[in-house]
Amino acid sequence: MARYIFITGGVVSSLGKGLASAALGALLQARGYSVRLRKLDPYLNVDPGTMSPFEHGEVFVTDDGAETDLDLGHYERFTGVAARQTDSISSGRVYTTVLEKERRGDYLGKTIQVIPHVTNEIKDFINIGDEEVDFMLCEIGGTVGDIEGLPFFESIRQFSQDKPRGQCIFMHLTLLPYLGASGELKTKPTQHSVKELRSIGIAPDILVCRSEHPIPEKEKAKLALFCNVRPDSVIPAYDLETIYDAPLAYHKAGMDQAVLDAFGISPAPQPDLTVWEDVSDRIHNPDKGEVKVAIVGKYTQLGDAYKSISEALTHGGMFNRVKVRTEWIDAEVFENEDAAARLAGYDAILVPGGFGERGTEGKIKAAQFARENKVPYLGICLGMQMAVVEAARNLAKIENAGSEEFDHEAGDKRFEPVVYHLKEWVEGNRTVARAVDDDKGGTMRLGAYNATLSAGSKVAEVYGDTAISERHRHRYEVDIKYREQLEKHGLIFSGMSPDGKLPEIVECADHPWYIGVQYHPELKSKPFAPHPLFRDFVRAALEQSTLV
Ligand code: GLN
Repeated sequence: MARYIFITGGVVSSLGKGLASAALGALLQARGYSVRLRKLDPYLNVDPGTMSPFEHGEVFVTDDGAETDLDLGHYERFTGVAARQTDSISSGRVYTTVLEKERRGDYLGKTIQVIPHVTNEIKDFINIGDEEVDFMLCEIGGTVGDIEGLPFFESIRQFSQDKPRGQCIFMHLTLLPYLGASGELKTKPTQHSVKELRSIGIAPDILVCRSEHPIPEKEKAKLALFCNVRPDSVIPAYDLETIYDAPLAYHKAGMDQAVLDAFGISPAPQPDLTVWEDVSDRIHNPDKGEVKVAIVGKYTQLGDAYKSISEALTHGGMFNRVKVRTEWIDAEVFENEDAAARLAGYDAILVPGGFGERGTEGKIKAAQFARENKVPYLGICLGMQMAVVEAARNLAKIENAGSEEFDHEAGDKRFEPVVYHLKEWVEGNRTVARAVDDDKGGTMRLGAYNATLSAGSKVAEVYGDTAISERHRHRYEVDIKYREQLEKHGLIFSGMSPDGKLPEIVECADHPWYIGVQYHPELKSKPFAPHPLFRDFVRAALEQSTLV
């Protein structure tokens, strides 16, 4: 049976609960335990798949095709444990399930209520995979006191009662604001937040306190006294230069020890932190210099929209011991500005995934600039599709080449669809079909699919393999019927779905590093195991930087 750690937050949102959970997961692994991390989100969307990146940051896709919260990306990056569909749930999903059951008559005519029907559904969810790991870490989204969070708090309270004593602990993350005028850290908001938790029956075992200033012993003792936790379970969490310092910083602050103490695990196994010492050393000592990468995308104002991409670039930099400076360029600027003038001076160009027509002509220009000027180029999903459109227009002279996605949007036929809407594909041993006007929420090729790489291709060299599995999230595909025509002009289809029907990777023959991939390699990169494409893309950028 797993031990459960519930992570909640109070005072304000965005305190880094996800990061604290992920770092704790990594620390428990360093002590030899197996872990799984889970996110329980109180919002009413069924999943984040249809939420705008402006609202919610990136959608993180799991191998088994779930569209989840970006916190699951943190979990994976820190623990290396591949997240699953069953690691992310929202109120929307819970209520959908409960209402479906009600319609089916599963409740035998009973009145359906939050307690016990909704809470039971949440508890069943938390318990999935109970036998598989030593520790299950469950983060509750939002802050204590939020109306929509109540069923989740009630569920974890009940859950801890259902399990044998000592099987569940609660960790609460709060903020200690600093009052400049009096030069003091204030503990009162934390006291109130803990009071709120206790009023719904949850007594935290560990307090994690975010603070911009060192927390004096006196204040720690006060927090312990007023919040009814042990003094060594008040864990300070100071701002960090990089998120990858979090495991070592939390270890130093005593978090993992406090957790093991709370479970009464004694003697605690000693941690082996060499992986994180190496990660930290690499990120703080980029002694080979710096590279500049332009990311030409749509949601450029919001870093979280491309979270995994910026992390994967950082990982690539760590591997090569360079600092990767990323600059986000709104693709739309190329409608009025010359791409060449704006893109000169970058060591590499990346065009990320995206949806919709806005900005795509700019992305096409960025791809063209990179191809013609032999600047390393990585096109991800839409970035690959636009690279194919660019080559079709400018090399194969299919002047009106485009994607059916944009025709579909405008409701007319303006383009020759070199990228078309896929209606049917093979998933394992079954065929999946969809209609053009399916619901926005469930029409994509999602999750892990295998691809076969051509031996001798650039990309096979990068992976050091010809069989790969990568995560997908898209509706449209490059049309295989243009393969011959494009390959004649140097755009090689070097990776295909195993049945040979769906182009997965394109690369330019006559170019030092020009690769487009239909999938999202960034989702699988880790600081301690950078994704091969990002590792090599940054290496190519470094090489490029020595040329100019
Ligand atoms: N909009 C494109 C498609 O649906 C690309 C999606 C993406 O970049 N994730 O195929």
